[in-house]
Amino acid sequence: MKKIGIFPGSFDPFTIGHESIVRRALPLFDELIISIGYNSAKKGFFPLEKRVKWIKQVFADEPKISVDTYEGLTVDYCKSKNAKYILRGLRTAADFEYERAIAQMNRMLSHGIETVFLLTFPEHSPISSTIVREILRHGGDVSQFVSSAIDLNE
Ligand code: ADP
Repeated sequence: MKKIGIFPGSFDPFTIGHESIVRRALPLFDELIISIGYNSAKKGFFPLEKRVKWIKQVFADEPKISVDTYEGLTVDYCKSKNAKYILRGLRTAADFEYERAIAQMNRMLSHGIETVFLLTFPEHSPISSTIVREILRHGGDVSQFVSSAIDLNE
């Protein structure tokens, strides 16, 4: 059976920290779906369509990767894609506590799905989409935090 992983997140926007987790996790899976979880009641900073397009640009050369969106429970989405693995990145102890609760509750909701964690590279641990958005709101330059395949001004 094919090993299908889902990398769920807001990716608002997708950073080099996200990219690094995806590239390092890729050998573990036959297919990896990067999927943007959205809530139709909440507007993101960047439109969903742009976020999808940018992630596709970063991995244009990777046949194992596809990009998608979903609304609702991540475990339900995984089942719809036949995916048994959820990929998440860990930067800090705070990430760990947050992710631990989600992964353990997801497991209670769906026994067949495992969450796989990769520790971020030290140089990527301070990078967060939230801070990237804050820098952008104040007119700062975020180019060192996003892949060169992405033009956030387009
Ligand atoms: P969410 O809104 O679900 O937290 P994010 O888009 O912020 O989604 O992050 C998606 C995943 O990527 C999470 O597992 C998060 O911990 C991880 N992540 C975020 N930033 C980094 C980074 N700089 N390095 C490694 N992993 C990261």
